[in-house]
Amino acid sequence: DVATPQQPRMRLCIATCNRADYSKLAPIMLAAKADEDIDLSVIVLGCHLIDDYGSTYRYIEQDGIDIDSRLHTIVRGEDEAAMVESIGLAMVKLPDVLLRLEPHVLIVHGDRFDALSLAASAALMNIRIVHVEGGEISGTIDDMIRHSITKLAHYHVCCTERAHSRLLAMCEDNNAILLAGCTSYDKLLNTDTTNCTAVLEKWLPKDVQPHDYLVALQHPVTTNISKSLKMFGLMLDALLEFGKKVIVLFPNIDAGSKEMTRIMRQKGIEHHPSFKTAKHIPFDEFLILVANAGCMIGNSSAGIREAGAFGTPVINLGSRQTGRETGENVLHCREADTTEKIKQALEIQYQKQYPPSYIYGDGHAIPRIMKFLKSLDITGETQKQFVFPPMRPSHHRDIDHILERQSALA
Ligand code: UDP
Repeated sequence: DVATPQQPRMRLCIATCNRADYSKLAPIMLAAKADEDIDLSVIVLGCHLIDDYGSTYRYIEQDGIDIDSRLHTIVRGEDEAAMVESIGLAMVKLPDVLLRLEPHVLIVHGDRFDALSLAASAALMNIRIVHVEGGEISGTIDDMIRHSITKLAHYHVCCTERAHSRLLAMCEDNNAILLAGCTSYDKLLNTDTTNCTAVLEKWLPKDVQPHDYLVALQHPVTTNISKSLKMFGLMLDALLEFGKKVIVLFPNIDAGSKEMTRIMRQKGIEHHPSFKTAKHIPFDEFLILVANAGCMIGNSSAGIREAGAFGTPVINLGSRQTGRETGENVLHCREADTTEKIKQALEIQYQKQYPPSYIYGDGHAIPRIMKFLKSLDITGETQKQFVFPPMRPSHHRDIDHILERQSALA
């Protein structure tokens, strides 16, 4: 046993809610599993366990990661109220699991509603939280959730210089922040994406060639669902008219998701000869599809993060990614209000060559994170201190002050 009297062996818990956070957390899980100084436990919740969203927990098992707890925490309905009830359900179930696992540290990723329940539960139970990917800016409710988790977290692992600066601007302690880069870049920059024939054959219509197809991935914008549904319909119309081969991914579980699926069905996308659809593509294959696409379209963070590293042209629709740092490869179409406008964006972007950009990572995030985790004090106080800017002393009344003034006047 490598534990020392000062610092016990770390019980590290990593919780994953969906495929989007899993692609970032999986490399941390694998490194922690292989580390003899760490006892890893993994909690799986949210839409990982739902068939409509690809039953993505299966990929965790395939990766050789043992799941300690599976929690069904999604209240179906795919509307705003269902998201709130899902947070509530997760918070009813999590304390039992956290009491059993007794982690010194819990790692939470990102900006989804399930992550908020994890962070709130752990903070209330005095469990140190490491939040991955804080300090970024985007649209929809995600932005507010991400910053709320920042406030609840004791430590931060962020991806860009600007994210680091924003965490400081949010009064977080510089000593509690690690600028590591995006963990998915560790895999992305070490994958040979040129050997793509089998993956293209699997996920796209017949006779597709590299750089002569599109990847479409669009999610609801929860702060303006009706507008985002309209935009989704216009994107599909533009793609139908553009006439190239397309893989369309079903949207995530956010409010509005079911209506989007209905729009896809109404337009016959699932049976159209130029289209294929998928609930989820395993990350290794997803990377190859993005790297070799003639263009990616929609509002997924993958268009900003992964596609940038490959220089893949991207059309980013609407407000979901507003404020995120991007490479040259992204063309924004913020007011995607006509099919014509989206088609013009497709004409500009399709098969265009862009240099790769590495804003989000250099491929060495994991060793940095492991070193950071080992440097944490896991036995001391869990009280968080915020670092506020200098300000004038506050006005407060104290009986001593009143007595002093009275005796001065006497
Ligand atoms: N992803 C994946 N397979 C897919 C779609 C997405 O592995 O079929 C991963 C990929 O790492 C991507 C991340 O999930 O960057 C986020 O994708 P998504 O669009 O679902 O979520 P967002 O981050 O935009 O909320």
